Amino acid sequence: MMNPSVIIARKRDGQALSREEIAWFLRGYVTGDVADYQMAALAMAICLQGMNRAETVALTQEMLGSGAVLGWPDDIRPVVDKHSTGGIGDKVSLILTPLLACCDLAVPMLSGRGLGATGGTLDKLEAIPGFRTNLSREEIIATTRSVGCVITGTTADLVPADRQLYALRDVTATVESIPLITASILSKKLAESLDALVLDVKFGSGAFMKQPDEARRLAQLMVEVGCELGVPTAALLTDMNQPLGRMAGGAVEVDEAVEVLRGQGPDDLIEVTLRLGAQLLVLAAQADNHDAARAQLQDALDSGAGFEKFSQLVAAQGGDLMASRGRAPEQLVTAAQAGWVTAIDTEQLGLAIVSLGGGRRRKEDAVDPSVGLEMLVRLGQQVSAGEPLVRVFAGSNAKATVFRAIEQAVKIGGQAIEPPDLVREVIG
Ligand code: URA
Repeated sequence: MMNPSVIIARKRDGQALSREEIAWFLRGYVTGDVADYQMAALAMAICLQGMNRAETVALTQEMLGSGAVLGWPDDIRPVVDKHSTGGIGDKVSLILTPLLACCDLAVPMLSGRGLGATGGTLDKLEAIPGFRTNLSREEIIATTRSVGCVITGTTADLVPADRQLYALRDVTATVESIPLITASILSKKLAESLDALVLDVKFGSGAFMKQPDEARRLAQLMVEVGCELGVPTAALLTDMNQPLGRMAGGAVEVDEAVEVLRGQGPDDLIEVTLRLGAQLLVLAAQADNHDAARAQLQDALDSGAGFEKFSQLVAAQGGDLMASRGRAPEQLVTAAQAGWVTAIDTEQLGLAIVSLGGGRRRKEDAVDPSVGLEMLVRLGQQVSAGEPLVRVFAGSNAKATVFRAIEQAVKIGGQAIEPPDLVREVIG
């Protein structure tokens, strides 16, 4: 007979739990036989003592097994997805999903909502009038078959254990644990029954993980666990010390994604998108090497096929891409002094968007898609006093303190710096 407090104590004392103990505890939590406070205590013990790879594999499998998985008929293959740990201005999913579908990959992307300072793909897509993000399992399969891709929220029957556990972790200071994050993210992705997965693990001032070393540890564990559970998985460590692209917010990010799909848009955003996509094409054996994979994606971009595919995806999910996506009135934030942009507190920029109504403080908050910002400078750029730094899209009742916080987030120093590399490392 197993006992929850004995299992909690074993983890508290730094011992490795067996597969049977992990399975018993998690199943009990889902059925209600293990109480919330016991699960919270175990989550805290895991936060403090960690889990080895075998324990993390067992936890991921057990979470995955708590619900249904998507089943694919033979004619819908290879099935792939990308996951990002989140950042400011990260609209890669909106561009990459249709591009991959143009390269004969099926992409049933199950995305999330904004978390803390970072925006969520579903919130951004809802800036498109009519766009539905609550497709049923049948609709996900039908749209993936007819269009080649879909971007929607996870359905209630996929990985219920994660929904329950994540809500508990959120209020018990137990989100920040590499094995718990790994099991949470991978169980949801593996429920899509993928043939390949690429992870964009971000580090820096606008990322969940501030230090590259922490991000590397998370990426390595996720790649190992994904591969061990039968899904070829790779990760890119990417820089999030400044927003990706120029735009951050709701409607403005959709506009920028459309700009890229129409053959324009910022280089950093295009580069991260193509690097992640090329990795997936190689993992899914749809290209012999990265150069060939990149050429396929570039072709889908240059020919307009990617834009056409995105238009089909939006229409299939009830959205009207041609309908106006309103932007709130704009105001400029300018440099108080001359110098070089030496650092950007990117999280602060994300929090400014949240306080303008473009993100959530509480789960039930509505998001205003018309607010956001446009970065007018990049790290390492020289600026003169009074030069515009950020264009802010905000309602007329926006507080002066928000504009001040945005100004302070862009640090101007007397010494030039080298702009950071966008992709620090490829893992797996
Ligand atoms: N995102 C998730 O889905 N799970 C985590 O644990 C952290 C971020």
